[in-house]
Amino acid sequence: MSRNLCSGAFQTHPSTMMQTPHAAAPPVPTVPLFGLALPELTALLAERAQKPYRARQIFEALYRRRVSSFDEISVLPVDLRERLASDGYTIGLPEIVQSARSVDGTERYLVRMADGETVETVWMPDGDGGERGDGSLAASEEAASEAEDEPASSFRRSTICVSSQVGCAVNCQFCLTAKLGIRRNLTSGEIAGQVAAVLNRHHVKLGGASGSESPARINLVFMGMGEPFLNYAPFMQAVRLLVEGVGIPESRMTVSTSGIEPAIRAFAAEPIRPKLALSLNASNDLVRQSIMPITRKWNIAQLLDAVRTIPLRTREWITFEYVLLGGVNDQPVHAREVLHLLEGTRSKVNLIVWNPGPGIAYTQPEPEAVALFQKTLMAGGMPTYIRRPRGRDIYAACGQLKRTVDSAPLLQSATASNLVSIDVPAV
Ligand code: SAH
Ligand code: SF4
Repeated sequence: MSRNLCSGAFQTHPSTMMQTPHAAAPPVPTVPLFGLALPELTALLAERAQKPYRARQIFEALYRRRVSSFDEISVLPVDLRERLASDGYTIGLPEIVQSARSVDGTERYLVRMADGETVETVWMPDGDGGERGDGSLAASEEAASEAEDEPASSFRRSTICVSSQVGCAVNCQFCLTAKLGIRRNLTSGEIAGQVAAVLNRHHVKLGGASGSESPARINLVFMGMGEPFLNYAPFMQAVRLLVEGVGIPESRMTVSTSGIEPAIRAFAAEPIRPKLALSLNASNDLVRQSIMPITRKWNIAQLLDAVRTIPLRTREWITFEYVLLGGVNDQPVHAREVLHLLEGTRSKVNLIVWNPGPGIAYTQPEPEAVALFQKTLMAGGMPTYIRRPRGRDIYAACGQLKRTVDSAPLLQSATASNLVSIDVPAV
């Protein structure tokens, strides 16, 4: 009998199943293995009278080798693979269903989950978000042109921007993702799976993989759609799978939060965690409340108190993101307030020029205001960077991502301009 063991996440998706004529038995609901931690795999295998080493083999195949079908796990006996498939288990990697490529090498993907929901994930070869060099515009421009000189297929390092929710509930007034509202949380497998899907697409070999070439340097920024700290446990599980399974060091990961105070405190106690970026975006509560209503729940002082509980590692700092909105938060007085707020915190500031979106009534800051803001912060001793746009022609900005599947296909919507680039951790 030839059983189809190729268990992509979409095989038993309801819409696919409806196309199957004369289906005799009701379909077995699928359960993705991708996203399960080793103890969960061990328990699942024990239920089938299998020894723990079988779970380790599956763990290795899922995360280190990033297989997409049971067929590829040849160390497992065929009957065990068949048993798992007939019990409804799939590998369950999310699938890249559309992509758009920028002239600067940035690629934006529409990634589809098993239930048909989609999020966006961005790949930026050699991306450094303008943080290389001294942070000046000149330094970032130099870095950007270097990246453009690279042939499309090669990269020394790359950054992947990962989504954590379908939509977002936080309702920041300047953000396009906010317009979607929240549709649902992503699971740990769906968060880590975006990374695996993108790595597979680029045939990336990480440390520990076989082969003579030197491993790629991959940075992760959890700055895509959604608020990771409102999906805390699955997000942290994804981080652990990416560190311990996929093999990306936590020092090359940064998570950005709009400021969920209890989650920041929990994060401070995590043994394995990315670096933190806080979307400060305003220099006082009044302004912040007007652009980020969530400030009414946790004000700036509460957020900074929580952030200061994080035990910083060597060469670690807290990044404060600051979206500059023309006439709202971009004046020297605001910069001086920021300096005052951040006094005594090992921090740096990433300035992001606001990117317009449909139905959002702000204006971009004047270039002079941006330069003066940076200068004021630098003069006060604060390392300050201006994020340079990446993927300008494909609308690929983290923090600006919105699901395009319900409207225009991704490739057709790839004409919008004005993007922010993505914050990239130092490596
Ligand atoms: N939800 C998280 C992470 C995703 S947003 C957070 O808010 O931190 C990532 C970054 O993009 C945040 O710093 C956010 O303030 C910024 N951002 C959102 N919309 C933007 C826009 N239209 N222009 C520029 N930056 C934006
Ligand atoms: Fe959500 Fe971040 Fe956008 Fe705010 S800026 S609405 S938290 S994605």
